[in-house]
Amino acid sequence: MDFKTLYNFINKLTAVFEKSKTRKDFILGLETVFLKVLKLDSLKIYILDEFSYSLKDFEKPWENLGDDENNSKLKEIINSFLAQKESYKISENVIYIPIYDDIKILGLLKLVLDEKITPEDEFFEIASLVRGQISYAVLNFKFREKTQLNTKFYQTIRNIAKLIETQYELSYILPVLGEMIDSFIYEHLIYIFIKTKNKKEYKLVWPKNIKDERIYTYLEELNPKSGITLRRDGKVGIFPLLSEQKLLGAVVAYNPFDKLNENEINYLDEISKQASITIERANEYMKVLKDATLDALTGLNNRHQFALRLREETATAKRQNAPLCCIMTDIDFFKSVNDTYGHAVGDCVLKNVAKTIKKELRENDIPSRYGGEEFAILLPHTTLEEAELVAKRLRSAVERKKINIEEYNIEGIKQIGVTISIGVSAYNKADKEIETLYQNADKALYEAKESGRNRVVVYRAS
Ligand code: GH3
Ligand code: MG
Ligand code: MG
Repeated sequence: MDFKTLYNFINKLTAVFEKSKTRKDFILGLETVFLKVLKLDSLKIYILDEFSYSLKDFEKPWENLGDDENNSKLKEIINSFLAQKESYKISENVIYIPIYDDIKILGLLKLVLDEKITPEDEFFEIASLVRGQISYAVLNFKFREKTQLNTKFYQTIRNIAKLIETQYELSYILPVLGEMIDSFIYEHLIYIFIKTKNKKEYKLVWPKNIKDERIYTYLEELNPKSGITLRRDGKVGIFPLLSEQKLLGAVVAYNPFDKLNENEINYLDEISKQASITIERANEYMKVLKDATLDALTGLNNRHQFALRLREETATAKRQNAPLCCIMTDIDFFKSVNDTYGHAVGDCVLKNVAKTIKKELRENDIPSRYGGEEFAILLPHTTLEEAELVAKRLRSAVERKKINIEEYNIEGIKQIGVTISIGVSAYNKADKEIETLYQNADKALYEAKESGRNRVVVYRAS
């Protein structure tokens, strides 16, 4: 092999490594380069897992190779490389080249050719160079992935900690936690369980259902002192959620193929600890908020306060024989705002919609955050016709409002907009239950959604 061919080959090998974004790209690139010097049929890289001493296909790091003849041959080869430091091994039309990290063997490169090959072939002049180059590339690849994972890990930890700045309802926080952990752990199924009020049972809070019911049996064995528990050869990892020695629940990571490695265990451990803190704070916050009247995110009345004001206002309306109306609003397609821009932007939108609504209302109107992205407004001394006008004004104000999201740095997007659907109803003295007032508005809201959203529908008793 002349110097120029050799030089080109090594150069291209380097370029493949530098340009490939995924492991698959890398293998495909190598195949193309090797085709220039060998009659290559296929190329594979196998990595030895230190913990289980099993082999993995470099392209599919989450699964072990089965125990067939082929794979025991690979192990045999690895063993012989371990015993003697050779640059390659030939068997008929297959070349094996070891991959090293310093002196530790990491795995091997398997080149299957179209024809038999002998050690006299020119290629073997460069086998040790190839060995060095590929080992370097594989190591770098692993390192690069680890760094990316690290960055993602710290982002996740930060996001979990931040969640509590604007949110305190566990029914909202827990699924978000699940999504965050899941987006960071690729090769495992993640489940989150919370202990129920009577502290006896575990309730799955994320995702919606579970594939393997045996997990419940493992959970029953948990106690506050359990620490991380690994089950089924380490394929199931159970990470307790604790607060001051009390068991709140657990994060379960489940890998159908493989055991969790040390890194993943450490990451999940840290994440569960952060999640415990977040859950604990949310619980404390909820206790404090029991006495509060305002919603922390929007500054409007909270739901509890809404119930009190509803009782007062219906009583007054009845006594004075005065009109009273209720407006229920719900942001359209709000889930897709969260999904597209993240929950922080979702929260920002909520604050802005609340602000816009408040600005359009009169002094005596009573706006409350009824639930997630739903607002309820009581309008004392207001007829249904007037309330409808107010509702229309609210709808168009929200539609016109441009919400600035520059600070969230989302691909240069500066502003977004949302719309709301609205239902309006009037109080009727004859109603037996005071709740009927907002339930009727809610029915109208439902109709507004059904008939296309971004509109006002008035409830009229039939
Ligand atoms: P529709 O037009 O039918 O109302 O569609 P939608 O996507 O708004 O419907 P849905 O009620 O299914 O979604 C409401 C979403 O609001 C789901 C929930 O994650 C989100 N959400 C509820 N509370 C909060 C919150 O405090 N902050 C954020 N960012 N999202 C919230
Ligand atoms: Mg809703
Ligand atoms: Mg909605």
